[in-house]
Amino acid sequence: MVRSNDLDWEQQRAWVEIDLVALAHNVRQIKGLLAPDIQIMAVVKADAYGHGSIDVARTLASEGVGWLAVATVSEGIELRQAGIVAPILILGGVNSDIQVQAIIKWRLEPTICTIAQATLISKAMARMQPSQSLSVQIKLDTGMSRLGADWQEAVTFFEKVVQLPYLKISGLYSHLATADEIDHTVMEMQLDRFEQATTAISHSGYSVPLLHLANSAGILVSDRLHYQLVRPGLILYGLCPAPHLQSNIDLQPVLSVRARVNQIKDITAGTGVSYGYRFIADRDLRLAVVDIGYADGIPRRLSNRMQVAIRGQLVPQIGSITMDRIMLDITQVPDLHVGEIVTILGRDGDVQITADDWANELGTISWEILCGFKDRLPRISG
Ligand SMILES: *Cc1c(COP(=O)(O)O)cnc(C)c1O
Repeated sequence: MVRSNDLDWEQQRAWVEIDLVALAHNVRQIKGLLAPDIQIMAVVKADAYGHGSIDVARTLASEGVGWLAVATVSEGIELRQAGIVAPILILGGVNSDIQVQAIIKWRLEPTICTIAQATLISKAMARMQPSQSLSVQIKLDTGMSRLGADWQEAVTFFEKVVQLPYLKISGLYSHLATADEIDHTVMEMQLDRFEQATTAISHSGYSVPLLHLANSAGILVSDRLHYQLVRPGLILYGLCPAPHLQSNIDLQPVLSVRARVNQIKDITAGTGVSYGYRFIADRDLRLAVVDIGYADGIPRRLSNRMQVAIRGQLVPQIGSITMDRIMLDITQVPDLHVGEIVTILGRDGDVQITADDWANELGTISWEILCGFKDRLPRISG
């Protein structure tokens, strides 16, 4: 990972800014929606959705967030190596002994979706730490059709895991497929299945561990989904899962992207711009070349379809986005100079460009936009 201070001169080109004050604000907003005894498990997978998981995890810890979740074992190890001590849930099941050994070594908390996974972990504990037990969480598939044991077999599944030595079941969870949709039919079905499964476990005489179900959308939709713990991802980073949920919370985007002007030139009407001449000037115009491109994470499909912000105004990007550079029509800011900062994503004065703007333009989701920025961009957190 490129860190900001090693590469001061690179910051001249383009960079990502992470606003940790906005992150803390979003955590407080989430807490405001939760009953006081409900815990937060912050989802910091994929390098905290491109925000840098270490700095994000430290801020979350200082805001009293007790749990973290990542997708892979390596993501968990990276946090442990940085000195993060909070419990870290691995959201994906692990099927290899090497991964299980790493989990035990780094005190990570695995998710169990199959009996084979539970057995693998139990056997590794028997070899490595026979005097202890490892906290594990069981995942049920209640309708996402992704990871998890079938909810209808929850009791027998739970029973089998309970019987394996060296494991302590600390949590039981499921994941919602459609909580951000206006139609709640599927969400209600999943909630009902989760209720049935957990009630059946409790009626079988087992003590029910920590239950959790809600992602960001689930948090915003209904407190019936909150259980004892919630798993926000996107809303931590200041974006809303869907426009109709926006009014439920006041979020501040955490990530901004900025780049500098490298060269300015005047072109005449009829001049083609960039690869393929996808833009031909229909009048004389002033053009700026800015040092950021698709190798930094701007989707090339935004060519001719995006705007940036300069001095609080929106300015159109023109021509194909290239690997390292984009061109702008800066006719409206003719006195712009080389070295000036351009806001690619984020706030500049009264203008704000969000990951949602890009996602809407491209027919994708803000999650994918945030995860798209590359390590080539130094990250400045503060
Ligand atoms: C990614 C993920 C989340 C967070 O989802 P958001 O929609 O970003 O809040 C929660 N739970 C699980 C299991 C996930 O994989």
